[in-house]
Amino acid sequence: MNSDISKFYEKGWQERLQILAEECKLSEEELDILKSLKPLDFSTANLMIENVVSVFALPLAIATHFKINGRDYLIPMAIEESSVVAAACKAAKIARLAGGFKAEATEQIMIGQIQIFTKGNKEQEIIEKVNTSKKMLLERANACDPVLVSFGGGARDIKIRRFDDFIVLHLLVDVKDAMGANAVNTMCEKLALEIERICDCRIGLRILSNLAVYRIAKAQATFPKKILGEAVDAVIDAWHFANSDQFRACTHNKGIMNGIDAVAIATGNDFRALEAGAHSYACLNGKYKPLTRYWKDKQGNLVGEIELPIQVGIVGGSTRVNPMAKLCLKILGVKSAKELACVLASVGLAQNFAALYALATEGIQRGHMKLHAENIAVQAGAKGAEIKEVALRMVEMKSVNEATAREILKEIRKGV
Ligand code: NAD
Repeated sequence: MNSDISKFYEKGWQERLQILAEECKLSEEELDILKSLKPLDFSTANLMIENVVSVFALPLAIATHFKINGRDYLIPMAIEESSVVAAACKAAKIARLAGGFKAEATEQIMIGQIQIFTKGNKEQEIIEKVNTSKKMLLERANACDPVLVSFGGGARDIKIRRFDDFIVLHLLVDVKDAMGANAVNTMCEKLALEIERICDCRIGLRILSNLAVYRIAKAQATFPKKILGEAVDAVIDAWHFANSDQFRACTHNKGIMNGIDAVAIATGNDFRALEAGAHSYACLNGKYKPLTRYWKDKQGNLVGEIELPIQVGIVGGSTRVNPMAKLCLKILGVKSAKELACVLASVGLAQNFAALYALATEGIQRGHMKLHAENIAVQAGAKGAEIKEVALRMVEMKSVNEATAREILKEIRKGV
């Protein structure tokens, strides 16, 4: 597959679909899902959540130019915010000049937490009982999910953390190609009964932690000096701002999640889990920090790196239930949750680099303006060809707001 498609944004809808179908070997049926613009029927939607009355649509776009670990990817992104996809493509195109992204991910280990109350100085006794029963407890946990075990996953270890009047048992589970929340929650509920029995203690919560510190993805890319020029230093300065100031770091990381969430949504993954994990990881050492870092290599090129927990699956959840998510996974062509984590980390880095590059040079508003102006035109009541005309005049006047849009619309309708 070749993702280095020139000017995909200038092509018409049918041509974009045709390129996608050829590159990703989509069937007629799969193309029809994309063409229908109605990707989810009521009965499927009604299986996914409660009280369904309709489905909610988001634009689905394809990010081009991505090369990750030597392989080209066309990356589906579902998002309502303009400029995010364009920014990802631009960053991927620049990174590609130096070989693209190099990404890696750990095993897919999730943490399940069981809260055990230790009233009456029973703490040490409970810890000893848990430790001596560890093998049996892991076997009991694995008995909950023979399918996961058959794929080489399952409960791997138990760790204990102490608090004032309770301890927390961490059950570490390799969830393989699943996101794993249901799998881990089921194991925790089962295990809690066993612990209650062997330790004669009161159990509190039994639930997954989204702070997935054992499920980390990293990506790195070089952005050549010959393209960036003085912006190499400007991006590093912009990163220093985020590294020093939590107010900036928050928005810095929000930009990273723009890309990660968009791919997560397109592939039917739980973006709230990713968000919770990422922001919690960002302040793991007590101070909220950027999830990326930048430096110069010996040749003066900019090198960027990202590291964060990525908890996503290619099975389970809605990844196979939602036909559009299933199709997006096919477009991506990922073969494992680990590979998907590498893609997400790379997209997060691309998104962050593009934002810093724009912010440190021309600012982000110019790039944002065209589509934003069109949105404002629609908000002011423009229809059909009026939308582009109103947007164009607002950008030329450097006054993009609803009042200006209304004035221009009046003029257009008067034939001015
Ligand atoms: P799941 O239970 O639908 O699927 C996972 C199961 O698929 C595994 O337990 C296993 O039995 C089976 N499986 C088949 N092939 C597999 C393979 N190759 N690798 C691994 N497992 C395989 O879903 P899940 O992934 O356990 O849970 C994800 C869902 O849980 C998401 O929809 C998420 O929104 C939701 N959820 C999240 C949270 C949270 O993040 N805090 C809490 C509760 C639920």
